[in-house]
Amino acid sequence: MSFLLPKKNVGEKLRLGIMGGTFDPIHMGHLVTAEEACQQFNLDHVVFMPSGEPPHKDKRNVTDAEHRYLMTMLAVVANPKFTISRLEIESKHPSYTVDTVRRFHEIYGESLTLYFITGADAIIDIMTWKDYRELLELCSFIATSRPGYSLHKLREVFGDSFEVIMRHVHLLEVPAMAISSTEIRRRVAAGKTIRYLTPDPVEQYIHKNRLYIPRSLD
Ligand code: ATP
Ligand code: MG
Repeated sequence: MSFLLPKKNVGEKLRLGIMGGTFDPIHMGHLVTAEEACQQFNLDHVVFMPSGEPPHKDKRNVTDAEHRYLMTMLAVVANPKFTISRLEIESKHPSYTVDTVRRFHEIYGESLTLYFITGADAIIDIMTWKDYRELLELCSFIATSRPGYSLHKLREVFGDSFEVIMRHVHLLEVPAMAISSTEIRRRVAAGKTIRYLTPDPVEQYIHKNRLYIPRSLD
């Protein structure tokens, strides 16, 4: 399935975090979040998982998966704890997190402790995710703070399911990075700088391939 997935030695228990996202493009908010989760939860690796056809996105045209994959690769390649998977971008169907997580359990079997890392905006939607109750049994969630979104709303949003869901959700404060891919795309389209919002090689890749420039100006 998947090259660049961490290997395990026989008898060794592997602690993996999956950082799912559209990564259109990847930015410092994703990287700081993954790094903090990796350290705080003593993970062996964080696997960045760019989505194929994202089931939760609106209808805007998501950038070609290979571009998103390569930008993510450029951003994570130097970190020995970070890796990347092609599982979802190679899937012929829209990828659901529960399917991805099931696949990880098939590959690693009993020896896996799995975490799924999401920002506050994503965890709030968890009850709309496919088979979310099974998903929560298959992996714990690390729900991180994100500027502009409040984790305090979870009790209200989850209602009667709050206690059950929170048994599988760990809250994690991460250094605040008020950055989004949407804002980066807007800035590029407007000719504004994106330096320091995303790693230099990603910035260069965006400019080299003329990503996020409105068609009429291209
Ligand atoms: P878009 O604006 O296109 O939705 P995004 O910046 O939200 O992009 P995604 O690829 O949608 O990035 O997000 C992937 C994951 O990273 C989600 O779980 C999201 O909550 C989390 N995330 C994104 N940006 C941040 C940030 N600045 N701080 C913390 N978590 C973040
Ligand atoms: Mg998003």
